[in-house]
Amino acid sequence: MSRPFNFSAGPAALPVEVLEQAGQDMLNWPNAQGQPSGMSVMEMSHRGKDFMFIYEQVHANLKQVLAVPDHFKILFMQGGGIGQNAIVPLNLSRAGVLDMVVTGSWSQKSFAEAGKYAQVHLAASDEAQGFCHIPEPSTWKLSPQASYVHICSNETIHGVEFHELPHLEALGSTAPLVVDFSSHVASRSVDWSRVGLAFAGAQKNLGPAGLTLVVMREDLLGHALNICPSAFNYDLVARHDSGFNTPPTFAIYIMGLVLEWIQRQGGVAALETTNIAKAQLLYEAIDQSKLYENRVHPSCRSRMNVPFYLRQESLNAAFLAGAHDRGLLQLRGHKSVGGMRASLYNAMPMQGVQALVAYMREFEKVHA
Ligand SMILES: *Cc1c(COP(=O)(O)O)cnc(C)c1O
Repeated sequence: MSRPFNFSAGPAALPVEVLEQAGQDMLNWPNAQGQPSGMSVMEMSHRGKDFMFIYEQVHANLKQVLAVPDHFKILFMQGGGIGQNAIVPLNLSRAGVLDMVVTGSWSQKSFAEAGKYAQVHLAASDEAQGFCHIPEPSTWKLSPQASYVHICSNETIHGVEFHELPHLEALGSTAPLVVDFSSHVASRSVDWSRVGLAFAGAQKNLGPAGLTLVVMREDLLGHALNICPSAFNYDLVARHDSGFNTPPTFAIYIMGLVLEWIQRQGGVAALETTNIAKAQLLYEAIDQSKLYENRVHPSCRSRMNVPFYLRQESLNAAFLAGAHDRGLLQLRGHKSVGGMRASLYNAMPMQGVQALVAYMREFEKVHA
């Protein structure tokens, strides 16, 4: 089925095959033996054998797709990425001090929230430069006693991405690295040897809203503050295989369909190659034009979220209307930064980026 190209930053487009499969299974999910279960996944007990079958498969596929090492735990939670801004310090800040690197709106939010639970030390910030590049890790002022160091590895609003995770050990720190990878999870490989904990809301690249993924080193479990709510205590969640309370069952099932779709595409490695090509096509078109501009330093431009501005802001409305007429949806930039933003998550095919670039060139010609 042909649909418009949806450039939403999140909740974002899902592969059409995933939506079709979910539609087919909606009233009557066929169980492990292919027999009709008589139920939608939404209607199943989260402890019953049908859902346990789904959970086991999703867990195994996630581990495979993200190449998660054995000494990491995978948790399915609720509360979103913003919830994790509190949940991480509630679980990991026993030493009372933590380091934050602020590279855009999302790490700024994490910084503010963590301050309710711990003393937050600003190790580096690019705010004075307007969030257009990542401070060189060798310049970060890390505290020797920090419980962890937090980064947002892809800033969804400012379009700034760590193309390589910092190697804290090489910087003389033994603190675990906490990574908000909400908006580029599964778009590229992860060097888990550098990660203590990574979290992601599912609604960018993995499925629908309502599910939060946490991947964490096992040795970081069991350190929660006493005030940590039980449902958000990583140790309890891990010991109950994410079933300490009712997990977001339907969202987990949809994520499972997305993971199978990723496997059919050739896995994260194949998607990464396509994602690099997609981003390159769009950034080249922006850089070559006189009308459009992207202000992020090329070395840290996001492959997933491409913010761009029309140098004549008065053309914004006409640009968006023309895009909509051509089936190019949700290109308006985040309200805090204005302009445009094209999110190129895994489910955005190369053809979508080609169509956008063709439209941008046409629009520029008409308005030159
Ligand atoms: C979308 C996003 C979040 C999401 O938070 P929610 O609580 O799910 O709204 C967090 N961090 C980043 C980097 C994001 O892009």
